[in-house]
Amino acid sequence: MKKGPKRRPIEERFWPRVDKSGPIWEGTPCWLWMGNKDKLGYGRISLGGWEGKLTLTHRLAYELLIGPIPEGKELDHLCRNPSCVNPAHLEAVSHSTNLKRGLPGKIKNPQSVKTHCPKGHPYDLFNTVFESGRRICRTCRNTRRRKRYQTRVGTKG
Ligand SMILES: [Zn+2]
Ligand SMILES: [Zn+2]
Repeated sequence: MKKGPKRRPIEERFWPRVDKSGPIWEGTPCWLWMGNKDKLGYGRISLGGWEGKLTLTHRLAYELLIGPIPEGKELDHLCRNPSCVNPAHLEAVSHSTNLKRGLPGKIKNPQSVKTHCPKGHPYDLFNTVFESGRRICRTCRNTRRRKRYQTRVGTKG
């Protein structure tokens, strides 16, 4: 008989290694897996047991919080962040959909991956501010602030 510490439930080994303050996508932050990752950036965790079976962390998070992944479906990262385990950023899609979405320029719904503000300024490190969980374009915000000092005369919309 083997002895040793009782195996802790997977939740207890999983959540402490999740950083819930990742980059904001569509108003909610990415939950970044801080543990082992494969070379594509997907998180991996051992399910424990003598087999040492590994599972993908985003699948685990989805199953813990949402429920079983429908048969034949795989999880697509809507936020395009492979280490993200936030179920709000995951969508169960068929394999072919996932492949299609993965190809650059073939994204069906470009609105779901916003890289620029409506005026075309990039949401990059320097031009992005976070206000109550939302991404704000710094350039546009500055423009709005400047306008506030001006009189309403001549300003439309
Ligand atoms: Zn995410
Ligand atoms: Zn802008």
